[in-house]
Formats: sequence, structure tokens, C-alpha cells
Amino acid sequence: MQRVVVIGSGDGGTFTANLLASELHDEIRGGLASVQLVGEHLKHPFQPGNLDVAFKGADPEKYVKDETELLRKGVDFIQDPAVKIDCASRSVTTKSGRVLGYDFLIIATGAVADPSKIPGLAEGSMNFHTGGESAERIWQALQKFEGGTIVVAIAGTPHKCPPSPDEAAFMLDEFFRKRGIRDKVKIQFLTPYPRPYPAEKISKVVEPMFQEKGIEVSTFFNVDTVDPKERKIYSLEGEAFDYDLLIAVPPHHGADVITNSGIGDQDGYVPTDRGTMMVIGQENAYCIGDATNIPVSKSGVVAHLQSVVVAHNIVAEIEKSQDLLEYNGRINCPMEVGQRRAIFVSATYTSPPTDQTPSMVKYYMKRSFAMIYWRALNGSLERIFDLFFGKTRFPLSKPLEPEKKIEVKVTEGGKTNA
Ligand SMILES: Cc1cc2nc3c(=O)[nH]c(=O)nc-3n(C[C@H](O)[C@H](O)[C@H](O)COP(=O)(O)OP(=O)(O)OC[C@H]3O[C@@H](n4cnc5c(N)ncnc54)[C@H](O)[C@@H]3O)c2cc1C
Repeated sequence: MQRVVVIGSGDGGTFTANLLASELHDEIRGGLASVQLVGEHLKHPFQPGNLDVAFKGADPEKYVKDETELLRKGVDFIQDPAVKIDCASRSVTTKSGRVLGYDFLIIATGAVADPSKIPGLAEGSMNFHTGGESAERIWQALQKFEGGTIVVAIAGTPHKCPPSPDEAAFMLDEFFRKRGIRDKVKIQFLTPYPRPYPAEKISKVVEPMFQEKGIEVSTFFNVDTVDPKERKIYSLEGEAFDYDLLIAVPPHHGADVITNSGIGDQDGYVPTDRGTMMVIGQENAYCIGDATNIPVSKSGVVAHLQSVVVAHNIVAEIEKSQDLLEYNGRINCPMEVGQRRAIFVSATYTSPPTDQTPSMVKYYMKRSFAMIYWRALNGSLERIFDLFFGKTRFPLSKPLEPEKKIEVKVTEGGKTNA
């Protein structure tokens, strides 16, 4: 009996569990394998929908489904959060005290957006990263806003969806133009990076559009504190900006279970091999998506492409049948720039993001993703994705065994969003 335990029923965990249930169908039916998915919540959100909730007034319920509707037959969903991962004894303990032994473990616990990490941020700002409800509060505030300064700030890196703060500024601009009061609203963009977007080629596209739309940018702004009473945001460098409304991307960290199990780095992310997705220093344990410490975009596309590699390699190990694969770092993050145009931030580990021309086709492709997301989670769209993304995995050049060192280096580069 080969027991696979997946922790985290978000984007990556749900998709991986479904792929495994499909690939191991015969083994599961014959009692030779099991796939257990350990989750916190019954509700599964489509997180990119938060932008539409915050800036277009969409109903958050539109972007949520029951996890059980999304799972293939053969996946045993256990709604009971993991509290301890013990790689030595190959077991996961859940909140209710259940101990799940595993032969293969996949950690897909995501990243947590946490405004409490910066003094005053939770009280003084709104955000669209902690969930649909907080995004909805932005929409309510925008309805009442008649003029003044809106600050959009990046208060910590790395964060989910690197394009999302720039996208928020573009969407705000569009919202106030439609309301006819854009001239009464100053939009101030604060970023810790040296330019409006971390990747240089993409920044060259964003910067002139920000200028044209009157979105003001202040770079090297590392948020230190927020004073909610005075409505001021301060940087470590000693700069300060006044705001009437502050929309901030909160600092992120890994899930508590990672830190509590002693397998994370200083930010709670799991040291992971960037090709095989194996947890460094551990056997038969993998990590995917936002939970890893790999310096690649924290995005659903990345979680998805990594899942394919991990599911393939686990099946290969179980069936001792196929060649092993590694992920090439392919990312593809869409960014709406207003007037029904979008760009895609696309890259791999070896090729940085390229020049982009905003297009309507990309805008509609981005918007259609909200509709296909749920089907994408059951693996039925893989042929289409393979055509779109091209080669995202390669035969593994070295035998699949964990690296011996558990040393974690989080460099400047490692903290950079693409
Ligand atoms: C505003 C916004 C816009 C975005 N736009 C895009 C986009 O356009 N394109 C794109 O590709 N990505 C986008 N993303 C990012 C994308 O949503 C995430 O990167 C993706 O969901 C990551 O998948 P994941 O499986 O790693 O983590 P998640 O989907 O976040 O899932 C993690 C899961 O682990 C669970 N969990 C945590 N701890 C435990 C525990 N102890 N026990 C059990 N379960 C646990 C959580 O409850 C959660 O269900 C966006 C995100 C936001 C917030």
C-alpha cells in the first residue's frame, strides 16, 4: 500500500490530489494506493477574483466553491488542519489528533498574507490579499470616496501574484475615470523595488502607462509603520506619505504548521529543490506553490505546473515505470492595465520576462481564466495548457534523491518577485 498525503486543499494541493487519483486509479481501486488531502476549509476560493471584488464590485461568492465538488473520485478529503509534520517518522498529525502515516508527502499549504506584521497596518489599511471579505471592504470604501489621496503600497515581499499591486493601481485609475472624478483623486504607488515593476522589461511597459494615467510612483519605499490616526505611512528610509485611503499588500509568510514543525526557513517557507520540488534534506517529501522558498512568482500557474511534475514523479516512483521530470520555472502572470488591455509576465528560470504589448486578446484570456479555473483543477484541460505554456518540464538529469544539506539561503534575489 502506497500512501500519499497532500496537505493544503488550495490550488496546488487540490490539483495534485486529482492528478494522482486519476493516474493511480487502478492502484486505488485495488487497495494498493491511497490519496489523502488534508485541508482547513470546506470553501475553496479562486483568489484572483479578489481583484474584481475590490475594484469592480463582483460578488465574492461568485469565486468560491465547495472543495468536495472539485475532487475526483479516489481522493479522501480530510477537513482537519495539519498541526505537525514529522518527516522522520513520515507522519502528519491533524488538529483532532489523527495521525496519518505517509509514503509520499506533498506540502501545499500556501502563503499567509499577514497585515499584523507591520505596526498600524492592520488598523490603517485595506487589502485584497487576505480574502474576498477584505476585498469587498475596498469596494465599499471606493463607493464613498469623493476625492483625496489613495496610496497603493507593497508592504512586504515576496507576496502572492507579483502583478497585483500594479494591477490595483490601473484598476483604481479606471474606476475613478468611469465615475468621472479621476481629477479629484491622487493615486500614489509605493514600492520597495527600484522601479514600478520588479522585472525591468515589464517595468518599461508599466512606467509610461503609469505616467500617462497620472499614477505617481515612489521607489525604494520599504514600509516600516502606519499611523492610522494621522493617516500616514512611513518607510524604513525615513520617508512619509499622507493618505485618505491606504490599500496595501501585506507581508506574507508560510503556514504555521511549517514553522511549528521546524521545517521552514525564517519566513516559514519550505526549502525546496527548484526542479524536482523535493523538500531539501527530507525523503519522499515534496513542496509546491506558494509554500516553497523558491524565488519564483507566488502564483497559481506556478503551483499548477509544479503539481504536474510532482504527480508525475510520484506515480513514476510507485509504478517504477516512467522517466522522472523537473520543472523549468515557467511563470505566466497576467496584469490588467485598463481599457480592456492586459499583458502577461512570462519567464522561466533561464529566460527573464520579455517585452510586452498590452492587448485585448490577453485581457479576455485573463478574464476567461476565472471560468476555466474550476475545470483546470481536475486535470481535464492539460492538453490545452501544454499547448499554451509549451515545454515546462524536462527529463531529470540526476537521480531523484534529496539534497543532503538543509541550509537555507534567502538572498536579495530570493526575495524578488519576477
Ligand atoms: C489578489 C490575488 C490575485 C491573484 N492573481 C493570480 C493570477 O492572476 N494568476 C495566478 O496564477 N495566480 C494568482 N494569484 C495567486 C494564486 O492564487 C496563488 O499563488 C495560488 O493559490 C497558490 O496555490 P497554493 O496551492 O500554493 O496555495 P493556496 O491556493 O493558497 O492554498 C493553500 C491551502 O493550504 C491550506 N492550509 C494552510 N495551512 C494548512 C494546514 N495546517 N493544514 C491544512 N491545510 C492548510 C489553506 O487553507 C489553503 O487552502 C493571485 C492571488 C491573489 C491574492
